[in-house]
Amino acid sequence: MNKRDKKPIFLSPPHMGGREFEYLKEAYESNYIAPVGKFLDRFEESLREFTKADYALALSSATAAIHLALRVSGVGKGDRVLASTFTFIGSVAPILYCGAEPVFIDCDSSWNMDPSLLAEALEKEKPSAVVLTHLYGQMADMREITKLCREHGVVLIEDAAESLGAEMDGRQSGTFGDFGVYSFNGNKIVTTSGGGMLVGRDEEMMAHARKLSTQAREDVLWYEHIEYGYNYRLSNLLAAIGVGQMEVLPMWIESKRELFGRYREAFADIEEIEWMPEIEGSRGNRWLSTMILQKSDPMRVIEALAEERIESRPLWKPMHMQPLFSKNRIYGGSVSRELFSRGICLPSGSDLKEEEQKRVIDTIRSVLCV
Ligand SMILES: *Cc1c(COP(=O)(O)O)cnc(C)c1O
Repeated sequence: MNKRDKKPIFLSPPHMGGREFEYLKEAYESNYIAPVGKFLDRFEESLREFTKADYALALSSATAAIHLALRVSGVGKGDRVLASTFTFIGSVAPILYCGAEPVFIDCDSSWNMDPSLLAEALEKEKPSAVVLTHLYGQMADMREITKLCREHGVVLIEDAAESLGAEMDGRQSGTFGDFGVYSFNGNKIVTTSGGGMLVGRDEEMMAHARKLSTQAREDVLWYEHIEYGYNYRLSNLLAAIGVGQMEVLPMWIESKRELFGRYREAFADIEEIEWMPEIEGSRGNRWLSTMILQKSDPMRVIEALAEERIESRPLWKPMHMQPLFSKNRIYGGSVSRELFSRGICLPSGSDLKEEEQKRVIDTIRSVLCV
């Protein structure tokens, strides 16, 4: 077969469930083609119901949600904020928006934030907040991390952009800290094409975030401003898609977990392959199936897959290795550095067919089993 005839396989493409278009049409026909309308309320309500969060605010992105969480927590110029180094830039850039200084924390064998390095940094840095990522949909050790942040009286913001639906001890990722953040960007487990959600437990702070998300207008007839805000509210049209996506989220989680199970089984005989773990008492959403190779060069696998029009990717390049953060402090650093050099994200669409997954598996085997 000609290479160009092969159907491309993407990392994590959008997967509509069925009702999204109906809701979108309803929103369109109501003429609430604006960042106000009943689908925004319904989207927030369905997310609150699913996560059991106290308050929810629909926004244009998860990056915006982290920015608002930092801002209503009073983080500003000269403050220090501890953050996972092994993450995506959207997790950390909002710290810079606030004029604060990110200080990075390495991961441990769970691939998520190392609680003992966090404990050390909390003592030495006297930070104002912690931004913690649940990487690739797998839970960080929230038992330890929540306790440490509480003991130090530090605001905890959970970046659950990738981990909607992941849980630990029966509690959803994003609901352990003071704030949690979810993303509905195009490649996340559910999507609104672009969007985010901020959840939190403090009524006043969440009301403040809501005000700041729509240009911080005071509650009078004319446009009165005491403080400045942002244009961060989600469109009602996109919220309609979100309402439909929330209905299928539990099924998409099961698909992704099954897909991961099939990868693990298919490569059980290849000793050098290791998977991102699931820490005891937790259940991830397996947003992306991610593995590391102990011996072989992951670039060889990525290139062989690309040859077959299959998209795969290295793991996130740690923030402390980014030129942007060359002057920022890092606690630890070698674990994420090593993972970055060895890891691969595999195609993980909740709609990936078994025969497509077989194409992925066969291609990888052709590189590793010689
Ligand atoms: C996707 C992602 C974000 C940013 O989400 P947006 O909705 O695109 O702003 C932040 N953090 C992590 C870990 C992500 O994967």
